[in-house]
Amino acid sequence: MTFLVSNPPKFPCVDCHTDCCKEYTIFVNAHDVYRLSNGLNLKPEIFLQLIGAKDYSLGIKVEEGLVDLALKQKNNACEFLEETDDVYRCTVNDFKPGVCKSYPFEMKDEKLSQMSDIMCPTDWDLIGFKEMMIPHLKKDESEWVFYDQLVKRWNLKYDGEKSLSEFLKFMLTKVELSLKSQ
Ligand code: SF4
Ligand code: SF4
Repeated sequence: MTFLVSNPPKFPCVDCHTDCCKEYTIFVNAHDVYRLSNGLNLKPEIFLQLIGAKDYSLGIKVEEGLVDLALKQKNNACEFLEETDDVYRCTVNDFKPGVCKSYPFEMKDEKLSQMSDIMCPTDWDLIGFKEMMIPHLKKDESEWVFYDQLVKRWNLKYDGEKSLSEFLKFMLTKVELSLKSQ
């Protein structure tokens, strides 16, 4: 008896110069920072930059101002992007932010779809990536909801009277507690 083995879907990233890692500011949430900080054994302050928040209700109120958290940049790209002989690779692949894993997918009307106006050189195989991406997108969405609620709680409690370092400690403790209770 012969079995038909379906080919794994092709990653367009193989033929790409990772333009997404150069073009976008990578905003991160509490779980992203937790995974990166633990995976790299680094304090979040080392790899985060503060961006002035536009949304008053969602920005973090700290002594430094109303801010959002993003990955630092180096040579006009994400600091974790490395180039060797014109080949680019992510050096934190195992714990890269949810938004990096999601790109260029999104959920529309409960269905997996590709964002409009993407930087990728070709379209992605939506059927081939469905099994991998739908659970990831749902998890990522719930982590952003967790983060938004956490920021709202912090803002209500401290109203800009504490520093970013104190916020980061508060945030990482809350992630740890939520992971322990799962
Ligand atoms: S996600 Fe798209 S733009 Fe980013 S590396 Fe892959 S193919 Fe290139
Ligand atoms: S963390 Fe990795 S995948 Fe995400 S932007 Fe940086 S280099 Fe690219």
